[in-house]
Amino acid sequence: MKKPLIGITTGNQLITEGILCGTVRAGVSCDYIQAVCAVGGIPILLPVITDEQSIVIMLSYIDGLILSGGGDIDPGLYQEEPQLGLGNVSPERDLFEITASKYCIQQGKPVLGICRGIQIINVAFGGTLYQDILQQKNDYCLQHNQTSPKYVATHTVNIEKGSKLHQLIQKNSIRTNSFHHQAIKHIAPGFIVNSFTQDGIIEGLESQTSEFVLGVQWHPEMMALNHPNMLSIFNGLIQACQLHSLSALN
Ligand code: MN
Repeated sequence: MKKPLIGITTGNQLITEGILCGTVRAGVSCDYIQAVCAVGGIPILLPVITDEQSIVIMLSYIDGLILSGGGDIDPGLYQEEPQLGLGNVSPERDLFEITASKYCIQQGKPVLGICRGIQIINVAFGGTLYQDILQQKNDYCLQHNQTSPKYVATHTVNIEKGSKLHQLIQKNSIRTNSFHHQAIKHIAPGFIVNSFTQDGIIEGLESQTSEFVLGVQWHPEMMALNHPNMLSIFNGLIQACQLHSLSALN
């Protein structure tokens, strides 16, 4: 079967030292690329562009989409003013990724959102976020921004039975890494929570209507080498892409 082309969104980063000081680079952590290769996909990096027609043409080439991690999402997109604790936002990246997720979902292309990516899916379809968990969630809260290395699991994520995520992981709970200070507050209509931590923070969502539109708040790509079961999430994406291309043929 044909290897699916998996688009991975990128972010822009200003180089602040050396001969390239002042240059803006488009990029993403190689962990995403390695994870896609490890499950038999072909990774394609997608730069942030703003022309909607060009975005649609770019996305027409890919079989599935990974929304990668990155900075904060503009709270204006869910009708809030910026609160204390909000980090840097990139309106261009927000617009690109919201357009990309809506287009791919409308086309039935599988979508996997990771960290910022789960938040983008939620905001794109009408959900809201905690701009900063520590400032805005007043009750009991775990550490969600770990200082341990990226591949170290630090908190327990409980997985809802009957969810797509449960089908993929086949466990009622897993230990995951955690590198986020924002999180989903109100989940978008048409989506369900598929996993959460003990403090009630939403760690995963999935679409009730699409075959494979799934987000996780942790970083499975960073753990894939040391915790092979994290690859099952990427495997699910690849299988969904293959199913979708088969159904498109019929
Ligand atoms: Mn977490």
